[in-house]
Amino acid sequence: MELPHPIRLAMLGRQGAGKGTQCVRLSHYFAIPHISTGDMLRAAVRANSPFGQKASEFMERGELVSDDVITGVVSERLAESDARARGFVLDGYPRTVVQAAALQEILAPAGLFAVVDLDVPLDIVKARLSSRRVCSVCGANYSSEVPTQMEGICDVCGGEVVQRPDDTEEAISRRLALYEEMTRPLEDYYRELGLLEVIDGTGALDAVTDRILLALRSRGMEGRVFRG
Ligand code: AMP
Repeated sequence: MELPHPIRLAMLGRQGAGKGTQCVRLSHYFAIPHISTGDMLRAAVRANSPFGQKASEFMERGELVSDDVITGVVSERLAESDARARGFVLDGYPRTVVQAAALQEILAPAGLFAVVDLDVPLDIVKARLSSRRVCSVCGANYSSEVPTQMEGICDVCGGEVVQRPDDTEEAISRRLALYEEMTRPLEDYYRELGLLEVIDGTGALDAVTDRILLALRSRGMEGRVFRG
C-alpha cells in the first residue's frame, strides 16, 4: 500500500563530503531506505556478477558507470515496496543531468521532496578521502576522524578494513574533477525546481544532521514523517 506522504530525498555533495554518513542518519530518522548506488555497485563487484565485473573497471578508474545502466538499477530499487511506501534517501544518484531527468520521469508525478547539497571545501574532502578506509565485508566507513577501535578490523562486523580501490590519489582527482563537470550542474537543475537545500557539511556530524533536519523542517517535513 502506498502511504500518503512518502519522503523522497536525494543527497548531493563531493566525494568525501559525508553523504553516506548523513544518509544513514536520515534513513534511521525517517525509517526510510538508504539507497546508495556506490554500495549497490560495490556489492555487485563483491558478488563478481558479470555486471559487477564490468562496473569495477569504471569504478577503479574513478569513471562513471553509464547513465542507462545505473538508472536501470535505481529504477528497479525504487519500485520495491519499502521505497514506494515510505520514500527513500538517494546517495550517489543522480550524478548527471541525464540521470536527474530520468529520476524525474521515474518519480512522476510526485517527484522529490528535497535535495540536500552537502557543501564541504575541497581541501577537507581531499584529506578525508586519502585517510578513508572501508570495511570489505559490510561497507562501514572509517577515517582518521572516525578510526576503528582495533587497527584494521571493522567495529560493526569484524571484517577487514581496507582502502577503497578508487581512493588512490589518481582516482580521487578524477572523481573530484568529474563531480565538477557532471554533477555540479545539478545544483542549478534542482534550484530551478525549488528543491535545493545547500547545507554546510563541515564540523561535528551531529551539527550537520541538525542543519539538514532544520532545513527539511522548514519545508514542512514533519507532516510527512512516517514512523512505522
Ligand atoms: P560512490 O561510492 O558514490 O563514490 O560511487 C563509487 C563509484 O561507483 C563511482 O566513482 C562511479 O564509478 C560509480 N557510481 C556510483 N553512482 C553512480 C552514478 N549515479 N552514476 C554513474 N556511476 C556511479
